[in-house]
Amino acid sequence: MTLTAYGESAEAALTLSEDRIKELEALWSTTDENSDIYKVNQSGGTRKEVSEETAEILQFALDMAEETNGSLDPTISPVVTAWGFISGEYHIPTENELTDLLQNTDYEKVLLEENFVTMPDGMQLDLGAVGKGYTGDIIAELLKEQGVTSALLDIGGNIQMVGRKPDGSRWRLGIQNPFGEGSLGVLESEEGAVVTSGNYERYFIGEDGKQYGHIIDPSTGYQAESGLVSVSIIAKEGKLCDALSTAIYVMGLDEAAEYWKDNGGFEMLLVTDENEIYLTEGIEDDFTLNEKFSDMEIHVITQ
Ligand code: ADP
Ligand code: MG
Repeated sequence: MTLTAYGESAEAALTLSEDRIKELEALWSTTDENSDIYKVNQSGGTRKEVSEETAEILQFALDMAEETNGSLDPTISPVVTAWGFISGEYHIPTENELTDLLQNTDYEKVLLEENFVTMPDGMQLDLGAVGKGYTGDIIAELLKEQGVTSALLDIGGNIQMVGRKPDGSRWRLGIQNPFGEGSLGVLESEEGAVVTSGNYERYFIGEDGKQYGHIIDPSTGYQAESGLVSVSIIAKEGKLCDALSTAIYVMGLDEAAEYWKDNGGFEMLLVTDENEIYLTEGIEDDFTLNEKFSDMEIHVITQ
């Protein structure tokens, strides 16, 4: 994580931010035995109390799972674990293994009543696909309360901006080239968040020579192969960006465009495996392709 804030109150505000991030990590970590999520995952089907903040992010994750028809599923982690993305001991699970694990994957079976969570024995929660975005929102808010008017937060690749650059111009963000080194182009933005997901970020090469990435389609247990190679979501709230970048990656281009038209409230930049870029109309003028990629076709998605 790299947190950059400007102005007189920046230094003290950043110290507070660091403490706050550690607090949130301690609540939502899947491996820390004292975390809320660990407690729920070890509950064996019994009802467990969690902190207000955990209840809030869990409610958000469950709502987004519902809204994206399960493309985002906060109970997918046993499948992600089976592929080795947690331990780093990568392997291709058998079809049977995945079928078994998918029996215990279903956000609809997570019951959240105020601050109490009940979930079937064997089910596992992981807020990994939304936690960084939510953290970005909380830290941006904290910085503003401390009087910071200009800051750029990079929370594990999730970008959160407070205001504009100190000179009053917009932030210039590099969108990573999903096909290799360097950046595809520059996106100008301000006050809000930009989050990118792609299977090029974390993957392994299987014994069959194929590339296997960390974003899973919850309907199959296999890698999302939607024709998209990178999804960037731009919106005021980091949590929405984070949830949608993962979910829209799973959906693919057509479903993504439909989702955007139906829901709105965000913009997106999609890169397909056919070397095309799709931008929603609200950011049409904000993105500049690097010269190196000038052969890529840019399409604009309109309402
Ligand atoms: P990252 O957090 O690595 O920047 P994402 O926000 O796209 O990237 O989250 C991907 C992580 O979420 C994966 O590493 C995995 O742990 C988990 N995950 C993978 N597929 C899904 C999914 N369909 N729904 C929810 N979480 C997922
Ligand atoms: Mg995400």
